[in-house]
Amino acid sequence: MSSSSCVSGNSYRRRLNAERGTPKQCWCGEPCYSSTSGTATNPGRLYYCCGKGYNKRHLFKWADECLVEEVEDIKSLISGMNKDISEFRLNVDRLEKEIEVMNTASEGKGEECMS
Ligand SMILES: [Zn+2]
Repeated sequence: MSSSSCVSGNSYRRRLNAERGTPKQCWCGEPCYSSTSGTATNPGRLYYCCGKGYNKRHLFKWADECLVEEVEDIKSLISGMNKDISEFRLNVDRLEKEIEVMNTASEGKGEECMS
């Protein structure tokens, strides 16, 4: 009896160590270049490819997929930054109130601290 029902079908095979976003270099060290596809299935589609040419062992990535990845990364970066900004705003508000309290307190005291 072999029950393998718990195995999730999510065995997405990643391309070697392809970086996210627009690639600058193939994993073989060769710089990437961009070109436009001329195939019937993907006419006019921009892609990045290893300088050694189109080969399964070398990098090949559609430019639109690169851009989607970049936008996804930037989105999460921005949402993190927005959280930081709202925290900073709260801190600034708190500090402004503190300064106001200090100012009104020192105004009330007058110049009695002078000696
Ligand atoms: Zn390569």
